[in-house]
Amino acid sequence: MSYKINNKEFGSVGEFVLQGRGCATITPNHYQIKRNDELVSGLRRTNSRPSSIIIPIKFIHIVDGSNGHITQAQREAQMSVLREAYGIYGINFEYSESEVVVEENSQWYRMDHGSFEEREAKTALQENPKKYLNFYTAGLASGLLGWATFPWEREGDFTKDGVVMLDSTLPGGDIQNFNLGKTAIHEIGHWLGLFHTFQGGCQAYGDHVHDTPPHAAPNYGKPEDGPHNACSVDTGNAPIHNFMNYVDDAWMTKFTQGQIERVWDQISLYRSEFLS
Ligand SMILES: [Zn+2]
Repeated sequence: MSYKINNKEFGSVGEFVLQGRGCATITPNHYQIKRNDELVSGLRRTNSRPSSIIIPIKFIHIVDGSNGHITQAQREAQMSVLREAYGIYGINFEYSESEVVVEENSQWYRMDHGSFEEREAKTALQENPKKYLNFYTAGLASGLLGWATFPWEREGDFTKDGVVMLDSTLPGGDIQNFNLGKTAIHEIGHWLGLFHTFQGGCQAYGDHVHDTPPHAAPNYGKPEDGPHNACSVDTGNAPIHNFMNYVDDAWMTKFTQGQIERVWDQISLYRSEFLS
C-alpha cells in the first residue's frame, strides 16, 4: 500500500522509514563525537548532576495562507505529550500563549533542511536560544517530518538552534501514523543531545548510551516483541518502543535511564542556562 506524506509518495510506510523517516537531523562527524565524549567523561568526574530544569518553548508557526495554522488546543496537547515523556525525569517545558508567533511566508513554509529559506526564516524569527527552545512548525520540503540541531552546535551556529517540525505531526494533525506529537519528543531528544538508537549500527559505540542495545537498522511501524535487527554483540531486542527509534507514534513510549543520563550531561555542558 503506497504512503503519501507531505506531497511525496512512497511505495509503503516501510520505504518512507528506510529513506530516513523524514528526520533530517544530521549525524555528527567522528571528531565532534569524540570531543563530546571527552567533555562528558570530564564532567562526570567533577560535577554533580542537576535534578530539575524548565525549558521555555517559543512556538513559531510559519504558515502559507490557510496552511500550517496550529490551534491553542494543539499547542497545549503537544505540551502535555512532552511533559508526559520528560517530566518524570525533572525535565520540564513551559510556554506562553501570548508569545506564540505566526508568520505568513510561502517560501519559508516549504523550507528544506539546510536551505537558504531555513536560515532566512530563523534569522528573522528566532528568539534568544539561551532563553528559549525555538520550536518551528511549517509544511517543510516533501517527505520530511522534522529536524533538530544538537546542543554542541549552538555556539558555532547560533541562528539555527532549535527544532523544526512538520506542522501536521502535532497532536490532531492529519498525517497518518505520526500525528500524536511524538516527533517533537524525538527532535527535542536530538536537541538535548541524543542520537538515534540505531546510530552506528552494530559498531561498539552505537548511540553512546549504555542501556540501549545496538541494532543494525531502524525499526518502523508497530513491530511485535522479539529480535529485530539484533547485533551479535548484543542479542537483546532492539528498543522498539524508544522515542529515538523510527517506529510509529503509537509505538513510541520510552527513554532509557542511560539516555536521560546523557541528556543531563549535555544540558550541563551546553544548555546550563536553563537549569532552574
Ligand atoms: Zn531523528
